[in-house]
Amino acid sequence: MEQQNADTPVRSMRIDTGRPHPARMYDWFLGGKDNYPVDEELGRQLVAFAPAIPVMARMNRAFMHRATRWVAGQGVRQFLDIGTGIPTEPNLHQVAQEVAPDARVVYCDNDPIVLAHAEALLHGTAEGAVDYVQADARDTAAILEHARKVLDFDRPVALSLIALLHFLGDDDGAYELVERLKEALAPGSWLIMSHLTPDFHPEEAAQKVRDMYKAGGLTLDLRGRDRFARFFEGLEPAAPGIVAAEEWHPELGEPVAGQEDVHSGAYVAVARKP
Ligand code: SAH
Repeated sequence: MEQQNADTPVRSMRIDTGRPHPARMYDWFLGGKDNYPVDEELGRQLVAFAPAIPVMARMNRAFMHRATRWVAGQGVRQFLDIGTGIPTEPNLHQVAQEVAPDARVVYCDNDPIVLAHAEALLHGTAEGAVDYVQADARDTAAILEHARKVLDFDRPVALSLIALLHFLGDDDGAYELVERLKEALAPGSWLIMSHLTPDFHPEEAAQKVRDMYKAGGLTLDLRGRDRFARFFEGLEPAAPGIVAAEEWHPELGEPVAGQEDVHSGAYVAVARKP
């Protein structure tokens, strides 16, 4: 059986319950049941330090809904979502297919627990298509090879990297993988991104959170505004540009319970490839 190794893309089917995983911690923050004691333990430590985290996670999820709705409203019918996470209704394809029943969606995550739930992700409309590929975000060749079976890359695609890239440091090739994906997109395609940042909280708090992830064996690179903006080089951000998650077209969805007292701690943007 393949070993889980932070440095190499893996396609292992093994669910590693010995150390915390981002997908399962996020599920725990959202109140889901698809997590293990190791995930809950680190989750509880984080929430004891920063009680707003579950609301922040919901605010991120709500941004995903609004951005998907908005891009589908621009006429985009193809979606590639990398770092999908454990299913939480509505998932991206449900949001997209509500606007456009013929929308075609390819999901990707590297965590085998997401694959175990792929069936829940794969129930789409008869007119559209939904598919799933287990791959590491850095393995763009494998992702694109699979995605091309479902999506036509000569036409616009919305690429969503939502709450993914803070789990990949610069040394992990975060910028390079985004460049390779952007290159594969046709003009008129979109990049939808959200990313945790230290910019809205005291530096000591950000450092404490980084340290807690590190102690759990996880990278958490909280990028500031400039480093977030670098992902969008060559693209044209749609209004309102790079903003906090809660500031991006709030009129397109309902506010999350408790969000009036909380900052999302995340930058977001939706940008078009010219
Ligand atoms: N996009 C979803 C889930 C965010 S949680 C949402 O915003 O609601 C982050 C997800 O990224 C997890 O499911 C985790 O398994 C996945 N992930 C983390 N590192 C990854 C990598 N290197 N390759 C692919 N997926 C990764």
